[in-house]
Amino acid sequence: MTAPVPLIAGNWKMNGLAASLEEACAVAAGMDAGPARVALCPPATLVERMSRVLVGTPVLVGGQDARAEENGAFTGDVSAGMLADAGASLVILGHSERREGYGETDALVSRKVQAALGAGLEPIVCVGETLAQRQAGEALSLVTKQVRGSLPQDLAGQAFSVAYEPVWAIGTGLTPTTAEIQEMHRAIRATLNEMFGAAADVAPILYGGSVKPSNAAEILHADEVGGALVGGASLKADDFLAIIRAI
Ligand code: PEP
Repeated sequence: MTAPVPLIAGNWKMNGLAASLEEACAVAAGMDAGPARVALCPPATLVERMSRVLVGTPVLVGGQDARAEENGAFTGDVSAGMLADAGASLVILGHSERREGYGETDALVSRKVQAALGAGLEPIVCVGETLAQRQAGEALSLVTKQVRGSLPQDLAGQAFSVAYEPVWAIGTGLTPTTAEIQEMHRAIRATLNEMFGAAADVAPILYGGSVKPSNAAEILHADEVGGALVGGASLKADDFLAIIRAI
């Protein structure tokens, strides 16, 4: 099996003004030559400016969502092609805040993934169960169903990652046990192999949900964890750098 190259991606969500680009520059300046690829996903308003200030650094820039359509009468939305044009090379798709807040289904996420690939963006596809689903013993079946429904066959041979983000762990300070994370990541890996064969071995499976400097090493060294999608702790360069160095 070819081991995936780890990816540490920061999701700034709806946070960040022009002055926040200093944090992005501090991440780039503080990075050592480590094993992970590193990305920051600012709000759409900052994608172009962040891409410009990070030119020549190893930090990649990503979007947080993209419309499935290429263009049209979709007020307020951005397309994958627009993000790529602004300098993004990745895009987060199917985040639980989109699935819950905007009713995004697996089928829609799958169409967005196709659009991202068409625009040359590397998708980070998010999946994860709610607390009620975990307590009902449905986490494994629900998440593997999300993986099947959200990843189109076009991904075969393409660069992508899956981010396992338990909804109840996002922004709460709660995290699953290492054993629970490993169990889920193994199930996702098995599903990817069923769908895409050995070619999917190179796709990292990220963990996301309250990753911070104090728990990063344990999470990042768990079996089948190929990096992290980091929300709150990616807003401060020092915290994000500590997580990058924990891998
Ligand atoms: C996220 O929103 O993707 C996330 C993981 O958030 P946090 O790290 O703040 O829990």
